Amino acid sequence: MKFVVAIDGTASSGKSTTAKLLSKKLGFIHLDTGAMYRAVTYLLLGKQAEEASDDRLLRILRDSLLEFKIVSNALSINLDGKRLTDELRSPEVDNWVSPVSERGVVREYCVNRQREFGKDAKLVCEGRDIGSVVFPDAELKVFMKCDLAERVRRRKRELEEKGIRSGETEVKAGLVTRDRIDSGRELSPLIQVKDAMVVDTTDMTIDEQVKIIYDEVIKRMGNGPEAGR
Ligand code: C5P
Repeated sequence: MKFVVAIDGTASSGKSTTAKLLSKKLGFIHLDTGAMYRAVTYLLLGKQAEEASDDRLLRILRDSLLEFKIVSNALSINLDGKRLTDELRSPEVDNWVSPVSERGVVREYCVNRQREFGKDAKLVCEGRDIGSVVFPDAELKVFMKCDLAERVRRRKRELEEKGIRSGETEVKAGLVTRDRIDSGRELSPLIQVKDAMVVDTTDMTIDEQVKIIYDEVIKRMGNGPEAGR
């Protein structure tokens, strides 16, 4: 049985944390598509190619050993045999990921791989265009949102936990810019699709966010949690 939960939403709205815990609870694969765009951005930054022409971009993508694998039900990304983790969340990648993700060649590269993972799978997939473009037939679509002030608090805390200190104004500007580019771009912009269940996480605990979506998945699967296994 195939079942795709497509979660879209703005930056720091709670998608990743929710998708991770939800997929564990359901025994589904967790596919963080933002990490794929971040990995491409990291690769390009390493070659000073973040603004390269389409031709050069394609050549770099073709000639690089960028691997996306599912390990223990989660996405694992290797570049030239080295696992990428914290590098993907650096302020430099944060600054460049939205302009890089606007590029048609980058989107095609990532979306093709995402669809491969979705074939006959039970998947919690999070990103910006999952319910609209990548898996328009998803069994459940969720749109997550959260007030900007709360998102700034969450992002700042996340950075601090990694030892990165940054001011509130800077964090806020980063989120606003990313959302503006992601929502305003021509190709696959972030939109709230009509058939999405809207979850506003501003005043919710993480457990509540997970539960509300989990309950909906179980309802749609019809037979309780064992149906998902
Ligand atoms: O989800 P996360 O914040 O890690 O995503 C990083 C960036 O990757 C987004 O700001 C967006 O520019 C891009 N992205 C995208 N499409 C997706 C997922 C992420 O364009 N499906």
